[in-house]
Amino acid sequence: MTQVGVNGYGTIGKRVADAVEAQPDMDLVGVAKTRPNFEAETAVRKGYPLYAAIPERADQFAEAGIDVAGDVADLVAASDIVVDCTPSGIGAENSALYAEHDTPAIFQGGEDADVADVSFNARANYDEAVGADSARVVSCNTTGLSRILAPLGEAYGVEKARVTLVRRGGDPGQTGRGPIDDILPDPVTIPSHHGPDVNTVFPDLDIDTLGMKVPATLMHTHSVNVTLESEADAAEVLDRFADESRLFCIPSDADIDGAGKLKEFADDVGRPRGDLWENCIWAESVTVEGRDLYLFQAIHQESDVVPENVDAVRALRGDADGAESVATTNDALGVGLDY
Ligand code: NAD
Repeated sequence: MTQVGVNGYGTIGKRVADAVEAQPDMDLVGVAKTRPNFEAETAVRKGYPLYAAIPERADQFAEAGIDVAGDVADLVAASDIVVDCTPSGIGAENSALYAEHDTPAIFQGGEDADVADVSFNARANYDEAVGADSARVVSCNTTGLSRILAPLGEAYGVEKARVTLVRRGGDPGQTGRGPIDDILPDPVTIPSHHGPDVNTVFPDLDIDTLGMKVPATLMHTHSVNVTLESEADAAEVLDRFADESRLFCIPSDADIDGAGKLKEFADDVGRPRGDLWENCIWAESVTVEGRDLYLFQAIHQESDVVPENVDAVRALRGDADGAESVATTNDALGVGLDY
């Protein structure tokens, strides 16, 4: 059993902790938090040992009536591997602590790529992370793009990808984010950072990305155009996507017209927190003209990276090959939406 610690217990960290806890070959050592808020309270309810991320603030937990198992250094020392789920930039600051304990670490997409040995997506480059000391699970958007570009590249070759990312202004809990009544080119310069981030996984890919930000919290939406190297037809592409366990092709008769109904569907089928770990591709949007493929997909920013973090643990440990790991993760979590 791999002993896994989770440092940072917010949007991503709490989901990763639950996902680790669900795996047959992993134990959750505990989670580190900075302060005793409602998320600390739920960690306690779930029986997750809680560690003080900032030792000087350990008293605050005691004052709130929450027992801590130690501080973050104790968590790192007790773990075979740490998944760092702290806010952007803090992961890089934490890397010295992991190195000090010789504990392999997984970082998130908010960190710069040079924080880790490899930028990781299970579908695209699992093998590159096998036996590495560290990996960075790429951002929610890069994860969503990697999952479609890998099979398209293998089947047809990709000459060029052009993607407009219509991004949610903030997660549902991020009450300070916006815009609340605007539609922003974000950034206004091209390319957005997403294309270069995709290149950390596919170094040779020709990709241009444009970013926008809108007053929404539920999901991102991508408008994708991929010029393939060989001709394809839409039905064949959909068949290939149907074989990909982390792609959900929304059938036309589902009457799902956007992120709202997708999240409603996730709730109805009993997904924890209404999470959608899969890319959600509108089947009707998949169109091919010559070598140009078009589609729309929605990406649940809070959860699509969660199964990838679990696979990154197995890759760093060298515990399974990519296909085995993805199958185990999917099985334990229930990834893969049938309709
Ligand atoms: P978050 O703010 O929801 O959670 C971060 C948690 O870390 C909070 O609980 C915070 O209190 C805690 N924290 C702050 N400083 C800490 C420290 N020094 N040590 C330990 N914990 C500390 O952030 P998030 O959305 O979960 O993002 C975490 C990472 O995941 C970032 O790199 C982000 O870019 C990436 N990511 C976020 C999303 C998303 O949409 N939320 C999607 C994909 C990747």
